[in-house]
Amino acid sequence: MEVIRVKDAVAGGKKAFELIKAGMDSGAKVLGLATGSTPETLYQDMVSSEIDFSDMTSVNLDEYVGLGGEDTQSYRYFMNDHLFNQKPFKETFVPNGKAEDLAAESKRYDQVIADHPIDIQVLGIGRNGHIGFNEPGTSFDATTHVVKLTESTIEANKRYFDKAEDVPTHALSMGIGSIMQSKKIILMAFGENKADAIKGMLEGPVTEDLPASVLQNHQDVIVIVDEDAASKL
Ligand code: PGA
Repeated sequence: MEVIRVKDAVAGGKKAFELIKAGMDSGAKVLGLATGSTPETLYQDMVSSEIDFSDMTSVNLDEYVGLGGEDTQSYRYFMNDHLFNQKPFKETFVPNGKAEDLAAESKRYDQVIADHPIDIQVLGIGRNGHIGFNEPGTSFDATTHVVKLTESTIEANKRYFDKAEDVPTHALSMGIGSIMQSKKIILMAFGENKADAIKGMLEGPVTEDLPASVLQNHQDVIVIVDEDAASKL
């Protein structure tokens, strides 16, 4: 994995945007996208750029079970609000958190990924080392599946909700097996609360206890970290 150290999230977003532009110049057509606070600066740069994304397809990592696109806390809403409303893409995919049959929805999403192989996957990382909503203990071979969120994730994400009890307990997530199929991966981490996960991912053993450590087995991963996230390296 190549590690790029930047001053802060603004510089990190710029770096990620440069990499995505270079990828698009070389023919990338499908972006794997993530939600959360980490990619916000990247999306701001994409929105304020002159670049036309109307020939691009996006495939998002995950969605809360029970939330639909009209729910302001849903990841579909986040993506529309932060990116797609301002920069139309050709097609955008996010798992359907309101699907009645979650097993069927998982299968459908696997087909979406198979039909749109991801050229560049953008990732954040959880404090517990999760990628997407693949919590510690998830099989490295998993495809799209229903996840029970850990206490650590609910705690981290409750800032977007009125209270912790409002955070959905389950999510649909692209699996680690699918993430690993992406041709190129850009993982960003900003802030001191990511320092342990970054250290484990880069310097620790490859273990399902720290899902992001699987990226050591991928050929083309760029890790963009600010000083705080890199502080334990
Ligand atoms: P964050 O979440 O970007 O809001 O820190 C990242 C993650 O949990 O994967």
